Amino acid sequence: MTTRYLIRFDDVVPGMAWSHFAAFERIADTCALPYLIGVVPECRDPKLAVEPARADFWDWVRARKAAGWTVAQHGYQHLYETDARGILGIGRKSEFAGLPYDTQFQKLAAGKAIMQAEHVWSGVFMAPSHSFDENTIKALRALDFTALTDGFGFYPYDLEGLSAVPQLFARPLGLGFGVETICLHVNTMRDDAIERMIEFIGAHRQQIISFDDALTIQPMVPVLSAALRHATSVALRLRRAVRA
Ligand SMILES: [Zn+2]
Repeated sequence: MTTRYLIRFDDVVPGMAWSHFAAFERIADTCALPYLIGVVPECRDPKLAVEPARADFWDWVRARKAAGWTVAQHGYQHLYETDARGILGIGRKSEFAGLPYDTQFQKLAAGKAIMQAEHVWSGVFMAPSHSFDENTIKALRALDFTALTDGFGFYPYDLEGLSAVPQLFARPLGLGFGVETICLHVNTMRDDAIERMIEFIGAHRQQIISFDDALTIQPMVPVLSAALRHATSVALRLRRAVRA
């Protein structure tokens, strides 16, 4: 029994902090690691552009997809319109949750069209700020999305017709079972945090799996999966309540 890790990068856009990302890219090349990246189809969020925009951005995404990385659709424009926490109850703002179904459908469809035109759409959704609601799920299903990189617990599960691969923390716990998604935002990572994470990745490279492989991780005892899901949901909501 061992923990499997999925390494996820949010906010992958032309003007991201490529200088911070370089070390992660190097180790991915050296160790053939299959990262999960959340690409914003049409980024309008000025906070995400911190370095000169990369002119060959979509070529780069296509090359990474060809190398085995999973490209998730990270919202549409990454503009927050509501302060709805959504189903998970952990985000503080949302591009989707709380908006009418038709509005959500149109945004998701517009994002999907861009991803498809660039030949990088994969049917995996990454919600900005982890916030989505029942209408988001319904629209995702209608648009043939199959999976989400969000949810509680340590094993993938069915969330109203989509496969949810849990994402709980930015740091690894290493409990010895299941799959942990490590969620990284390179724009705001400091040098020492990057160094620590690169060290961790190097030391655990045999345990790092792709999103597709994460979808297949099953608990030895099925009831354990649901119990852990409940426990982590309560823990994260409590933490939120304490911080609020
Ligand atoms: Zn984001």
